[in-house]
Amino acid sequence: MPDNVRNVIIVGSGCSGLTAAIYAARANLSPVVIDGHEPGGQLAITTLVENFPGFPEGIQGPELIDNMRMQAARFGAEFMPGHVVSVDLSRKAADGSKKPLEVNLGRESLLSRTLILASGASARWLGLPNEQALIGHGVSSCATCDGFFFSGKEIAVIGGGDSAMEEALFLTRFATKVTIIHRRNEFRASKIMLDRARKNEKIEFLTDTVVDDVLDASKKEVTGLRLRNLKTGEQWDLPSSAMFLGIGHTPNAQFVGDQLARDGDGYLIASEHVCSRAPGVFISGDVADRRYRQAVTAAGTGCMAALEAEKYLEQIGK
Ligand code: NAP
Repeated sequence: MPDNVRNVIIVGSGCSGLTAAIYAARANLSPVVIDGHEPGGQLAITTLVENFPGFPEGIQGPELIDNMRMQAARFGAEFMPGHVVSVDLSRKAADGSKKPLEVNLGRESLLSRTLILASGASARWLGLPNEQALIGHGVSSCATCDGFFFSGKEIAVIGGGDSAMEEALFLTRFATKVTIIHRRNEFRASKIMLDRARKNEKIEFLTDTVVDDVLDASKKEVTGLRLRNLKTGEQWDLPSSAMFLGIGHTPNAQFVGDQLARDGDGYLIASEHVCSRAPGVFISGDVADRRYRQAVTAAGTGCMAALEAEKYLEQIGK
């Protein structure tokens, strides 16, 4: 194979990709990490992480991810900005022999013997008529990034999982009132997070309620939410200066197309452990995990993917 063929390319620079980079770099495989459109992944936009082992007082998400990045760089991992447009996992030479895997970044293509797909999952939107027009003007999926702009204001948070509880709790630092709007009366959130939100005097809950639209696109700012009670059908407008989404995530695996197995929501499916059905291609972290989705599990599968890549390279004699 020509010299420009890398040993390991890691798609994604979140917790999983960086853990894979630390392991691959320490194994002298000189991995290249493609940053992606959300460098650092979800930890980069969260606040205090209390459940990552080794930090008895917790650690800020961005600090944890910066540490991982420095750790990978120390052992020789290379970082490349940009995001992957497509991959070709089945290139063959004229004689039928396997050619290196190709990663298309739009402006250029890279070749590699192995690929670790750790591209994570991105925040979901509701798909309301005026939602996209108001992103950056009061509609947000990142409380950590945008909460500060709504100091002294009333804010709404959508969702009934841990993300919604975490966002709502964080936003009470700035807002005078936070209303959590959830489409059911039961919550997916863990008991500890739900209890914390319920005990917070600034947080109110509206259940069995959906958002029909966010107002007011003509003013280029959020002034309120048009809500509907699913049980009574009643519709009303709730004054609010912002709407924060905490309704889950979509896996970033579109660039793979149908070359690998994916489930109905697009999550990648491994054939065995972290090995995909394409030789030399390994998958780790939230892009393949709809069940656990924790920083520590993403790190764990990132480690596994790097170890499998190392083993594969040994097998093909590289
Ligand atoms: P999630 O658990 O899947 O919850 C998503 C919530 O959004 C659900 O309540 C869901 O309602 C609601 N939802 C989804 N689509 C909707 C729509 N179109 N309209 C209205 N509501 C909608 O996602 P998550 O909260 O992001 O959590 C993901 C994982 O990360 C979980 O394992 C969680 O424990 C973990 N996490 C942990 C922490 C922490 O420990 N600090 C923080 C954040 C996340 P239904 O319930 O009706 O489906």
